[in-house]
Amino acid sequence: MLREVNCGELHAKDSGKVFTLAGWIRKIRDHGEIIFIDLWDRYGITQVVFSPDSPALRERAKQLGLEWVIRVKGEVKKRPKDMVNPELSTGEIELVASEFDILNASKVPPFVVKEDLTAEKELRLKYRYLELRREKALKGFILRHKLMQKAREYLNSKAFLEVETPILAKSTPEGARDFLVPSRMHPGSFYSLAQSPQLYKQILMVAGFDRYYQFARCFRDEDMRGDRQIEHTQIDIEMAYPECEDIYKLGEGLLSYMVEGTLGERPSTPFPRMTYKEAMEKYGTDKPDLRNPLVIEDKTKIAKKGKFGIFNQCEVTRGIKIKRLFTRKEIDELEEVVKKAGTKGLLYLMSDGGKLRAPFAKYFKELDGFGVKNGETLFLVSGGDKEVLTSLGVLRCELGKRYNLIEKGWRFLWVTDFPLFEWNEEENRWAPVHHIFTQTIGDIKELENDAGSVLAKLYDLVLNGVELGSGSIRNHDPEVQRRLFRIIGMTDEEVEDRFGFLLRALSYGAPPHGGIALGFDRICMLLGGLDSIPEVMTFPKTLTGVGLMENSPSTVPDKDLKELKLELKKDE
Ligand code: ASP
Repeated sequence: MLREVNCGELHAKDSGKVFTLAGWIRKIRDHGEIIFIDLWDRYGITQVVFSPDSPALRERAKQLGLEWVIRVKGEVKKRPKDMVNPELSTGEIELVASEFDILNASKVPPFVVKEDLTAEKELRLKYRYLELRREKALKGFILRHKLMQKAREYLNSKAFLEVETPILAKSTPEGARDFLVPSRMHPGSFYSLAQSPQLYKQILMVAGFDRYYQFARCFRDEDMRGDRQIEHTQIDIEMAYPECEDIYKLGEGLLSYMVEGTLGERPSTPFPRMTYKEAMEKYGTDKPDLRNPLVIEDKTKIAKKGKFGIFNQCEVTRGIKIKRLFTRKEIDELEEVVKKAGTKGLLYLMSDGGKLRAPFAKYFKELDGFGVKNGETLFLVSGGDKEVLTSLGVLRCELGKRYNLIEKGWRFLWVTDFPLFEWNEEENRWAPVHHIFTQTIGDIKELENDAGSVLAKLYDLVLNGVELGSGSIRNHDPEVQRRLFRIIGMTDEEVEDRFGFLLRALSYGAPPHGGIALGFDRICMLLGGLDSIPEVMTFPKTLTGVGLMENSPSTVPDKDLKELKLELKKDE
């Protein structure tokens, strides 16, 4: 028998009995007469003793090294009181070895495997299995597993069907670049790796599936930032006949079931809601962190009452009030933050000991109208509306972080009524804010007159300042969908070529439908209290898209390219 019990299973009640254990050697303490070994596996650590009573066995144990895999048999003994380790589930006992086998030796590991790793990131990724072979790393994956089971339980209970859709899909860009896969059977043609199952799930509604979900792997050939990877997992959901309200209720039910089922606390529902406009005006972002109590106030009117040039020349002046006084140095540092976010400078008004101080004080008869009370500071930014809001949004986060204003808890939020389109300067055309399959609020006619002003049945779910996911009510009328394609400058031929299959499906009795996709990796990261998404991915890529462990992407033999009828151009 290789193993009877695991390394986290033996307790004081087992003392006197003999068991066989297997695991990795995590620590060796060789005191000459006596050797202690920490034997590790996913379930815990058991202390194994090679005692003076079996000198031959102890001598043989001297060859053992870190991360070797051994099987050991021995008697469970209670540890003396002063040797009990309350940090370990097995801390009251030790296993006194009577025999052992080496199941597999290990080369000397490139870094010492321990809970607090200090090794460089690249080295850890190259030896990812060693990095993962730790309680701290495994914890995130155990949570991920539980969250997945909870999501399934909830969605199953609401009659959703778990369905798979193709990963080798048709290239239908959704904002990001596609990964292309050359077809051997159809040389010159390419599949694309699905950016999301968006069109498949919509067509499943046409097919009468009524309620669909999938843990969908999505592939986007984007430059990676800290919290993004080129492949990720979504809980992808679609339903027939929904109003926005139905999706909000479903999202709230699902998330609170997942949080309660794993962390034991139930977030309060319904989640608060805010339109996109309100979010931008109060928080300077479409994903506000509601744990931060600071809000942006519009001070344009009062600012224009004085004779201060900057206030009078700029479109708007907005500010953030905070109960605190600041030194010159602090203000300079904060000014750097807003400058980086795109504005020219930061002004302030401070009420210190009943006296109002501001660099623009002399241009005003009185400053009371700004509404700053004793001990408070009002930071002000002037300029164009968009840049002012964005930079104050950044300042708000900075102040929250620097001065520990972030409250505890899970603050969910729906952000609703996004505009359908935004102007893309680079491409000189309207581009969808989310995706083009979204229904407008109100009449589509207005859209053809002024695409930027029209709002959509488009919502985001935000948790603690992080966007968990987006969704929308879709266009089930193929004519409306066709008109939207025209607005983003697609010709009817292009539409037919790329999206003809969708329009055809919509013209065979498509029910009204809508849905949402939630970033599953992100949910795991947040609920696990982790800093980055790769921590809950088994084998993440580096920021330049490299799999360091397996060395991907890699070149392929010429004969493979030939089969695909592909030829590589030599670098010029
Ligand atoms: N497919 C969309 C996305 O990946 C989500 C949705 O609209 O349901 O963002």
